[in-house]
Amino acid sequence: MQKGKDKIIIGNWKMNPPTLKEAEMLFFNVRQGTSSIKKTEIVICPPFLYLEKLKSASRRNKKISLGAQDAFWEGGGAFTGEISGEMIYNLGTKYVILGHSERRALGETDMMVNKKIKASLAAGLTPILCVGEAARDESHSYFNLVKIQLEECLHGIKKDLISKVILAYEPVWAISSTPNRHDATSGDCREMAIFLRKILSDKFGSDASKMSIIYGGSVNEKDAFEFLKNGGIDGLLAGKASLDAKKFTEIIKICEASSK
Ligand code: PEP
Repeated sequence: MQKGKDKIIIGNWKMNPPTLKEAEMLFFNVRQGTSSIKKTEIVICPPFLYLEKLKSASRRNKKISLGAQDAFWEGGGAFTGEISGEMIYNLGTKYVILGHSERRALGETDMMVNKKIKASLAAGLTPILCVGEAARDESHSYFNLVKIQLEECLHGIKKDLISKVILAYEPVWAISSTPNRHDATSGDCREMAIFLRKILSDKFGSDASKMSIIYGGSVNEKDAFEFLKNGGIDGLLAGKASLDAKKFTEIIKICEASSK
């Protein structure tokens, strides 16, 4: 964690909940539970459909920002089903998750993620770039896989823009939706965070030190403290736990307390 950098907790709701009413209730409960939070940046990434409604609700709690879960690389035109970064930005949304493993599993490549990052930055959004290996092997080739992901996704990004990108290390084997998943440790996270920082500083120089690196992979209210204390990271990305207002609020409070 760099000095002076706010910690950040991001909730990825994925394709949940099924109704706007439930989305508003979940958002309302998180807003209520976090009214005393001062130092932690909170970001909620709901499905696109709910962004506009939740934007009005978030006006009453400036500490909660909204993010989208994807953005297309073209600015507009004949692209059925797609949503541009500019559209997301114009809704008053600040963040966008890009390169999530669940989208990569549907065919998204590093090259596509790279185009999305460039377009999102140009639209004024803060991309949350997800990288992470599917499995770990004894010969440690996963380090190289993550390095390639990172380098391809950030190819051609200008040095002066790199600090706007948040890097989320999400080992796929630890994500709650992965069959036979298992827990990552703060040590697993720390060694990868150190490795990622080295690649970033080799590529982008001192500007890279301004980037936040966060961790995601079944984070919950029981292990959040350990990851924040010993994981070498600036925050957390929670999926499943962000759908439970009590758990998500607890994670945010743990983060707030860990910044003291
Ligand atoms: C995610 O998929 O981004 C994530 C962190 O999910 P979960 O916390 O449910 O593993």
